[in-house]
Amino acid sequence: MAYQHIEVPAGEKITIKEGILSVPDNPILGVIWGDGIGPDITQASLRIWDAAVQKAYGGQRKVSWMRLFAGEEALSIYGDILPNETLDAIREFIVAIKGPLTTPIGGGFRSLNVSLRQILDLYACVRPVRWFEGVPSPLREPHKVDCVIFRENTEDVYAGIEWQSGTEKAKKFIEMTNREMGTHISLDAGIGIKPITPQGTKRLVRKAIRYALDNNRKSVTIMHKGNIMKYTEGAFRQWGYELAKEEFGAYTVTEEEVWGGAKTDGKILIKDRIADIMFQQMLLRPDEYDVIATPNLNGDYLSDAVAAEVGGVGIAPGANLSDHIAVFEATHGTAPKYANQDKVNPGSLLLSGVMMLDYIGWSEAGAAIIDAYVKTIKQKIVTYDFARLMKDAHEVKTSEFAAAIISNL
Ligand code: NAP
Repeated sequence: MAYQHIEVPAGEKITIKEGILSVPDNPILGVIWGDGIGPDITQASLRIWDAAVQKAYGGQRKVSWMRLFAGEEALSIYGDILPNETLDAIREFIVAIKGPLTTPIGGGFRSLNVSLRQILDLYACVRPVRWFEGVPSPLREPHKVDCVIFRENTEDVYAGIEWQSGTEKAKKFIEMTNREMGTHISLDAGIGIKPITPQGTKRLVRKAIRYALDNNRKSVTIMHKGNIMKYTEGAFRQWGYELAKEEFGAYTVTEEEVWGGAKTDGKILIKDRIADIMFQQMLLRPDEYDVIATPNLNGDYLSDAVAAEVGGVGIAPGANLSDHIAVFEATHGTAPKYANQDKVNPGSLLLSGVMMLDYIGWSEAGAAIIDAYVKTIKQKIVTYDFARLMKDAHEVKTSEFAAAIISNL
């Protein structure tokens, strides 16, 4: 495909063969630098990713980075914050990584990130949360946190179906519902719709269980608020159990079956928890939770809350996945007050890049980054956010932190 502003570098495309990613030794991967602190953390991370790949494969493998545009930068180039070219390039080249993006207030978009996920149908938001030795934590036993949150990414209240209080559409909807369904909604209410489908739930839970099996995880917990929202969150729970039984019956056992005397025998334990108690248990007994599958809004809250237990959003990585297309991302925002100061922690984007390297099967490079990252933190070489929580830390700039990791590779 010919592009107007995107320069496609020399290299090869990742393709899908018989449903499996086929990755050449010189793949072209998309990179969106992002707004605010995006350029600082992206440039630092690119140096580390390249150095780790070089270290792991001695020049036999190399990424060709293809710059893509979204957010403020895209607005100045295309007059559009999410240009079709960017979407087409992600579809064509399959794997990309992005820094944080600003959604201009008052623009036509509810959120640029939500739009990207919905347009590309990136239905699973995957956030691994674990503690790295040396990282400041408010918990006494932060090593007990090691979970992977699978958050449904396209449905729930994020579907963007809502009407403002007092508008013609809100009134029309309320009148129709009161008339046809016997409800008693006040005419001046604002309205939001929460669609949750069997297909949306099952493809998410399928990914979570498949991940648990592939990565020797012990359990998958379905987190929901089904005691109150019976036909959305409660249905999510029911469809989750159904999927586990229908497609993974030989490899899974439910908590209820175990209570009834069944043995786990190395199978994945499927259990469920109501959202409010789940938040409490992730603080009190986080080691009881491993892979977690949950609807969109619960997942949004939970992933930031659990990330806070082990260092905060500055180091929390994330991926947005469809069946094949994958967009990895820093989970924090653009932190505009720190833009272009070479100050912030690149950890979130850096570790999202480790997820990306794992995704394309280059795990050796990812593992090298983790080792070097842990070594650097143990040396107390950290950016401002960790420095303010640690004793005797040596505070460095973003670029210096990257240099320290590279020298520890
Ligand atoms: P934010 O940009 O995440 O920043 C909130 C605070 O988090 C910062 O002030 C800083 O805390 C800390 N922080 C964020 N990134 C950090 C890093 N790399 N290293 C260290 N600390 C970091 O959230 P926001 O201020 O609510 O949102 C700003 C803009 O970002 C908005 O336009 C929003 O739409 C956008 N946003 C984008 C994404 C995305 O692209 N995925 C996600 C969320 C928000 P301290 O002040 O304590 O130092």
